[in-house]
Amino acid sequence: QTASPMLSVNNIEVVYDEVIQVLRGVSLDVPEGEVVTLLGPNGAGKSTTLKAISGLLRSEYGEVTKGDITFMGERIDKKNAEDVVRSGLFQVMEGRRIIEDMTSIENLKLGAYTRNDSQINQDLEMVFNYFPRLKERTGLAGYLSGGEQQMLAIGRALMARPKMICLDEPSMGLSPLLVKEVFGIIKKINQDQGITMLLVEQNANYAIKAADYGYIMESGKIVLDGTQEQLLNNEDVKEFYLGGG
Ligand code: ATP
Repeated sequence: QTASPMLSVNNIEVVYDEVIQVLRGVSLDVPEGEVVTLLGPNGAGKSTTLKAISGLLRSEYGEVTKGDITFMGERIDKKNAEDVVRSGLFQVMEGRRIIEDMTSIENLKLGAYTRNDSQINQDLEMVFNYFPRLKERTGLAGYLSGGEQQMLAIGRALMARPKMICLDEPSMGLSPLLVKEVFGIIKKINQDQGITMLLVEQNANYAIKAADYGYIMESGKIVLDGTQEQLLNNEDVKEFYLGGG
């Protein structure tokens, strides 16, 4: 394939508080229309990589000190978070970050804040199509279950009509059954809407099965990458990430 990837992270280094170096030269590509997963243990730097992409580092006193990030041919590593969303890349942060004292519909409408078209009601229906339970729960979002809140966070991302969505640990805190359901819906959204996805996960099993390609990160570096099939058949991946065998 010769087309340049939709998102390209080139050899970035990230430093927090001007001294703590967390990323040590991270490169990854996300081709248009694909699902790519970034895996690795706690503290490897996965969330930091996503924050670097989505412009959210500065609010945590972090900075990309080397390398660059391009999205659809444009440099985004110096952009703020709102401009990154406007360029078509939406991040669903870890811990869901929905607004608990607003209803589901109000939360979903917040996702559309960068838009000024009249399709918003249509898109609410599209979100309810993927997540019918959200339509039934008309109360405040704070009363939704963990799984429903994760669905709401993904639905809110869809309301921005993004070209690409970055998801930080969508499986966090969910039962195995719900993880399977949420990953199934993520894959379906990718296929129906053509939305490109970058999926950060500790739950390697489900993430690799949902992804076309994956990267494994340890201590601020990419240590391995490959197609779904290559990863599922890799002995180290089997032993350390897929629970032996
Ligand atoms: P997790 O799955 O636990 O979120 P992760 O792979 O996403 O792990 P990061 O959250 O990116 O890892 O953290 C990588 C390293 O950077 C950790 O050592 C963490 O302590 C450190 N770190 C993260 N955020 C900050 C911050 N705002 N200031 C200083 N250090 C930070």
